Amino acid sequence: MSNTIEFDREHLWHPYTSLASPLPVYPVAKASGVRIQLEDGRSLIDGTSSWWAAVHGYNHPTLNAALTAQASQFSHVMFGGFTHQSAVQLGRLLLSMVPQGLTKIFYADSGSIAVEVALKMALQFWLGQGQPEKTRILALRKAYHGDTFAAMSVCDPVDGMHSLFQGQLAKQLFAPAPQSRFDGPFLEQDAAALRQLFAAHHQELAAFILEPVLQGAGGMRFYHPDYLRLARQLCDQYQVLLIADEIATGFGRTGRLFACHHANISPDILCLGKALSGGYLSLAATLCNDKVAQGISHGEVPALMHGPTYMANALACAVACASVSLIQQGQWQAQVQAIENQLKSGLAPCTSYPGVREVRVLGAIGVVEMLHPLDVALVQKRCVALGVWVRPFGNLLYLMPPFVIQPDELAILTDAVCQLSKAPDWSQSVVLPGA
Ligand SMILES: *Cc1c(COP(=O)(O)O)cnc(C)c1O
Repeated sequence: MSNTIEFDREHLWHPYTSLASPLPVYPVAKASGVRIQLEDGRSLIDGTSSWWAAVHGYNHPTLNAALTAQASQFSHVMFGGFTHQSAVQLGRLLLSMVPQGLTKIFYADSGSIAVEVALKMALQFWLGQGQPEKTRILALRKAYHGDTFAAMSVCDPVDGMHSLFQGQLAKQLFAPAPQSRFDGPFLEQDAAALRQLFAAHHQELAAFILEPVLQGAGGMRFYHPDYLRLARQLCDQYQVLLIADEIATGFGRTGRLFACHHANISPDILCLGKALSGGYLSLAATLCNDKVAQGISHGEVPALMHGPTYMANALACAVACASVSLIQQGQWQAQVQAIENQLKSGLAPCTSYPGVREVRVLGAIGVVEMLHPLDVALVQKRCVALGVWVRPFGNLLYLMPPFVIQPDELAILTDAVCQLSKAPDWSQSVVLPGA
């Protein structure tokens, strides 16, 4: 085991981690249901769904069976010139679930690429309409849409993870992050800012991209569904395409099948990923409506200019079919509702701790926002000692467990978060007030 850690430390990059002074990593031996077992035998209850993905838990018999059945036929064939049952069946399933009007599917190999494809669709659409001046994208402050270059250009330009690259990124337009709380009134200031931006810039705008209802990696912020209704209305009024990035929110996480459903709107372009393949393989999808598809098809270059090597990988599509079918069977609704109720009661004590700024819960997402940034290594060490897997970022401790989690297991997670937020490990780099 120590060899594993040594080699890893010496040679492997981890997400957003320095090679010179890497954060500790914990070798995993196996995982099943909501439990992740380390090589040293310790067992952890998963509070992350491996970043929104493993909604049915790990080592799921139905997903395993789908994967081995596909592998016994073939694992991958190029999607140029071929098609296959798993891609078609997944397409049927998706179209039966997504907001109305979306009819065409591009299978991408990761969420960031799904966003790249969405932006490319929008640009090609306006080229096809003979409006090549519509090239800019409107995005939100606090947004996160991925790590590739076009995706980075629509992430928060200041607070985001990519401020380092600002000089190399396309100059997009940013609206203030919505301030209207999910369960509060819809604030005129949010509406006014958006109206003003559309009125001033619509001629150069190709699309408005947003993460509906929940801004995820940019701060776990929930906002009012009326914001989406206004976005849809302004996009129609000013001829701007609406792109909904539901890579994190899709497939039930926020309490509705898709976060767009909170506002009963349909985007022109929809990005899916993460939970799409149940946490098994990297797969994403960009869907669009007939208007976008036809607009591109009538352009000077009628083909969508994208085609990854592993497009519609059969193993990924097969496991996604199984995962999405489980979602379609509908148990997630009761599961997410029960998780929401328990997160609300289980995290309630945190509101009174002096280091806590706010506690918020929506669907199967529970967030404890602290006053100061947390020390990731220390917090994770304590989590592992408490038998849970939670990964803080910035000021945030958050839970988004697999939907299959049982009440006693979730109680262990919420108790751990209460303990951590009661006596937090502040990051070394923070100067505490008065210190
Ligand atoms: C995770 C995420 C992405 C990027 O997906 P990857 O598969 O990590 O490339 C894009 N948008 C949102 C909203 C995400 O949460």
